Amino acid sequence: MNAASQDASKRLLILASKLGYQTRNFAQAAQKLSVEVVFGTDRCHQLDDPWADRALALHFEQPEQAAERIVEQARAHPIAAILALGDRPTTTAAYAARALGLPYNSPGSVEACRNKLRQREVLSAAGLPVPEFFSFGLHEPVGEVLPRVQFPCVVKPLALAASQGVIRANDAREFSAAVTRIRELLESPEIQVLREPGLDRLLVERYIPGAEVALEGLLDRGELRVLAIFDKPDPLEGPFFEETIYVTPSRLPAEMESRVADCAKRTVRALGLTHGPLHAEFRVDANGPWVLEAQPRPIGGLCARTLRFGVEGDEGKIFLEELLVRHSLGLSGSNLPREACAAGVMMIPVPQSGIFERVEGAEEAAAIPGVEEIHITARLHDFVAAWPEGSSYLGFIFARARKPEELEAALRESHKNLRFILTPRLPVAHPATQRMPAGGD
Ligand code: ADP
Repeated sequence: MNAASQDASKRLLILASKLGYQTRNFAQAAQKLSVEVVFGTDRCHQLDDPWADRALALHFEQPEQAAERIVEQARAHPIAAILALGDRPTTTAAYAARALGLPYNSPGSVEACRNKLRQREVLSAAGLPVPEFFSFGLHEPVGEVLPRVQFPCVVKPLALAASQGVIRANDAREFSAAVTRIRELLESPEIQVLREPGLDRLLVERYIPGAEVALEGLLDRGELRVLAIFDKPDPLEGPFFEETIYVTPSRLPAEMESRVADCAKRTVRALGLTHGPLHAEFRVDANGPWVLEAQPRPIGGLCARTLRFGVEGDEGKIFLEELLVRHSLGLSGSNLPREACAAGVMMIPVPQSGIFERVEGAEEAAAIPGVEEIHITARLHDFVAAWPEGSSYLGFIFARARKPEELEAALRESHKNLRFILTPRLPVAHPATQRMPAGGD
């Protein structure tokens, strides 16, 4: 990075739990604009990024302390803007931005999003269409909870993301099995290490049938600009809810799209969100949209690559990452229109948990017309977990086409060519059986 071309007015702090492909894309967008990037992360033992050596080590589960650390650092190296990627760092970003006088959402508004129960309470009080819900303690006897449950329902933890631990239950037996399974997940070392508040309760909601859409938006001092509405053409009917295909523009009737956009505007107003990226999910049935969730962060993983902005015929189109970097720093270009073609991504689901040995057919998959890029993001020889315990995709297929139908077909055809070889993990021996007997040979 050319230090001479940088100044403090262009130093951007990116907060993320993992430094990897997603943060690299944002860093590259910033670099293109001669903007210096500083990372703040709570996973310093997992760095795999060339810029990570200067990352600030933060504890996102203690947002006020993490923000103090940012403010302290900013005294010596002033920052001009903060971008939080993923749900976890958003509260830290809000406290730090408030202390530094940078435009961002207020801590209260972000806190209302971080906890799924709190978000339901706020939206329901504001009259937004949300499913009926209640919460209960993780260790309450299921028999005492059951009389309150209406089936079918969805059970979920209060503060995980990417559909991790989200399970549909159609009857008492499935409900009880779901609660046991989520409890085990929440008590696993991988989740405990997050020290995420609120993981001692579960949320139960009425299952809402219907199509699901995601809305990508950008808030600017209270005004929401809808960047895209994505259809999710694979039915998300459970019992688990890993995502697959996202396609924009949506094929919903125009009138329903504008109801979704309107519902998103009322949602951000009720939550008090005002500035920066927004990702929201809705179910749509005959009555209109229902809010599933809204989060003050961009779409996850590498999916921001799906959205490109610029004037038709102009070579210099920019991806969503760059649009967001420009917006955060108040640079020009953040109001560029989205390109007119259909665009989409397939988040490659994990067919079954196992050690990821290799992928076959990638060349054939990449050769399907319309497919632009395939990124396999799972690391070879790592264990990957299927949903509901899992939360990371094997990779992403990106495509562009004239029409959403063509695009969806291209993604499906491409995916059909990919074969993932996953081998089962050896069962972990019980600690007692691992111990060497005294004097053993
Ligand atoms: P996360 O933040 O982990 O993604 P969500 O609450 O958004 O969790 O739920 C993940 C997915 O589960 C949703 O995208 C949707 O497909 C499904 N889902 C969650 N709640 C409901 C519900 N009440 N009715 C129908 N589907 C739901």
